[in-house]
Amino acid sequence: MDTVTTETETGTLIVGAGEAGLGIAVALRNAGYTAPVTITGLEADPPYQRPPLSKEFLAGEMDEENLLLRADDFYQDKDLRLLTNAHIEDIVLDEDSAGGTATTSAGHAIHFDGLALATGASPRRLPVPGGDLDGVCYLRDIPDARRLRTLLPGATRVVVVGGGYIGLEAAAVARGRGLDVTVVETFDRLLQRVAAPPISEFFRTAHEKRGAKVLLGASVTALRGSAGSVSGVELSDGMVLPADLVIIGIGVEPRIELAQKLGLDCGRGIIVDDAARTSNPAIVAAGDCTMQPHPLYPTESICLESVQNAADQAKVAAASLMDGPRPERAVPWFWSNQADIRLQIAGLSMGFDDYVIRGEPGTEQFTVLYYRDGRLIAADAVNNPHDFMAVKRALAKGATIDPTDAHNTGLPLKTLIREI
Ligand code: ADP
Repeated sequence: MDTVTTETETGTLIVGAGEAGLGIAVALRNAGYTAPVTITGLEADPPYQRPPLSKEFLAGEMDEENLLLRADDFYQDKDLRLLTNAHIEDIVLDEDSAGGTATTSAGHAIHFDGLALATGASPRRLPVPGGDLDGVCYLRDIPDARRLRTLLPGATRVVVVGGGYIGLEAAAVARGRGLDVTVVETFDRLLQRVAAPPISEFFRTAHEKRGAKVLLGASVTALRGSAGSVSGVELSDGMVLPADLVIIGIGVEPRIELAQKLGLDCGRGIIVDDAARTSNPAIVAAGDCTMQPHPLYPTESICLESVQNAADQAKVAAASLMDGPRPERAVPWFWSNQADIRLQIAGLSMGFDDYVIRGEPGTEQFTVLYYRDGRLIAADAVNNPHDFMAVKRALAKGATIDPTDAHNTGLPLKTLIREI
């Protein structure tokens, strides 16, 4: 066993070296924080962007070095200590102070007087026999994406399990290479968790038009193999889809183990307030690991898995650690690229009671605007960046767009924004 080494320097410990973890560190330095900052990550790589992993990187259109959020010398310049391959196993808090000591699984002790959790999320595993066969891949981190990029050229029949963004983006890349692709989704429509029926229907048609097969309401009961490699996907109705590559994208689970060990309140994620403070107000958390009230949706506590949320919540968390003024929260936004389709989402459509389709889905350029109690809450813009920008702007200033006006594609959406 490694011996325990300790350090005398304190400062802030940020557990998690993703977009949120790095964001907190940068925000601390930008706000004039001069004490040591340590960022620890499970990953072997320095902080990197995840969104391209299932898009440009998987398609071979982007190199690995371009995934990195910052070049190596940035960490030196900002005096940030980055520990990669570091698994924080335990954290013991001091009594009567915001500080404590964290221990890595290698036995390294890190003292801190400020703590931030940005532990992210891990991909949900498909709980069926055969999950460990060769050719069964997940798509969450660089090693996953590297592996998949290596396997794609030798594959012929690809089954994608999960019709969320990750699954559909990977399906588009595989189909773009001319492979035989089938998407298997448990629900009766794609993107059921995140989009309204017209968007689900649009993506089903778009993927089919590009030659992929989409099986809805289908559950996987087993992955079959031959000589240790996957050979097929068995569905609950007994059908077996032949496959030499299976890509699983069935969602993520926020990593909350450390927070639970610290006795912090957790639901699906670590519960934080609008200042990114956990139930122990000395400890902040940000990014995919959190569950938060959002100013635009005050009655809900939500998990937001997005770069924008990680980046914005990180700034809020850093401000809380320094007791500084809280930055304003931005309108949530997301994007997904599938083949030549660019979907941009502004706001959160959950809880909508009405929607307007602006434009004709068949043209692959249209927007769905979502309303609750007559008020605009979100939009999904398909190949329609102007509509996306207009809705984002409207939501940011608490304005709306009248649903009857929104139909009129003859008028730019930005001219239809109305104060409430
Ligand atoms: P991701 O970010 O991985 O795309 P989402 O939660 O947005 O995650 O989408 C995952 C999709 O996978 C959802 O549409 C969900 O219904 C689907 N799904 C979950 N479990 C299974 C399963 N066992 N078989 C097929 N689809 C599944």
